[in-house]
Amino acid sequence: MSNSFDFASNPHTRINILTGEKVLVSPHRNKRPWQGQTEEVSAAQRPTYDEQCYLCPGNVRADGATNPDYEASFVFVNDFSALLSDTELTKVDDDNLLIAATEKGICKVISFTPRHDLTLPEMSTEAIKAVVDLWQNEFMELAEKEWIRYIQIFENKGSIMGCSNPHPHGQIWAQSSIPVEIAKETLQQEKYYQNTGETLLSAYARKEITREERVVIENDHFLVVVPFWASWPYEMLVISKRPVQHITQFTEDEKTALAITLKELTIRYDNIFKTSFPYSAGMHQAPVNTTPSPAWHWHMHFYPPLLRSASVKKFMVGYEMLANPQRDITPEYAAEVLRSQSTIHYKHG
Ligand SMILES: [Zn+2]
Ligand SMILES: [Zn+2]
Repeated sequence: MSNSFDFASNPHTRINILTGEKVLVSPHRNKRPWQGQTEEVSAAQRPTYDEQCYLCPGNVRADGATNPDYEASFVFVNDFSALLSDTELTKVDDDNLLIAATEKGICKVISFTPRHDLTLPEMSTEAIKAVVDLWQNEFMELAEKEWIRYIQIFENKGSIMGCSNPHPHGQIWAQSSIPVEIAKETLQQEKYYQNTGETLLSAYARKEITREERVVIENDHFLVVVPFWASWPYEMLVISKRPVQHITQFTEDEKTALAITLKELTIRYDNIFKTSFPYSAGMHQAPVNTTPSPAWHWHMHFYPPLLRSASVKKFMVGYEMLANPQRDITPEYAAEVLRSQSTIHYKHG
């Protein structure tokens, strides 16, 4: 790459190689040094069990079902699923103007732990590993249904992200068609693989390891970077060093490493503003029940909205809604802030 301009001060656009889309970076708008703001937002002391919570063990859910007295994690079909498994698949096309298709799917909820008061960074590595095992089993089971094309594993954390229940949990949506982000990423990855015979993210990970400045975590099995094209302030991308297509291909060692990586990543997040850091995070994996694609490379996105403190969030409005994402602090600067955080959670430090 030619360094004909200065990434740290010149406004510029970056290409997201996974989607082929642009991100506008305006570093000059944020020249002041990071204040290291450590506003102590009183982490509401939550009880270990809440009788009103629909995820706590033994409680009755909206549909009348009772949660078992589970000890690790617990999965069930969402009582308010956005997709249903008995939808008949049909299409409409009215003069190429009004085009639609029904979507069939299964939406599940995973409670990460029986403890109402914990979050991923505060759970033990063993407990996070149990969640990874469950993700793997659920993926395997859902992929056996031949009508399912794509499985999205994700977590929406924090009320700022519209998450209504603080009990640590994630979701899995399995559906009959390929979603937009996956279709875009498939195209970019296929293009690269056909030209080089290597996955796009293998080459990208190697590049980031030599450049160092955007690397936050690296171990034997995973690399975590603030991607070069990041649009959210502290966005991170987790890449498996081995180019696998699905979570089901991870070995025991890789699953343990993923648990360790997720714990460290979320601890670093919490430590930035000494708050339970909100985010939307999820894995991107190859579609299922279709021609296998060696171009697809498993990865996980973390999109957190916080910008300057526990209460100041970035909004994607105005120019972002109409043109393309825009950011002020550079990805390199965000990586530096993340790297400088302790790997011990601030509540226990
Ligand atoms: Zn609960
Ligand atoms: Zn992706």
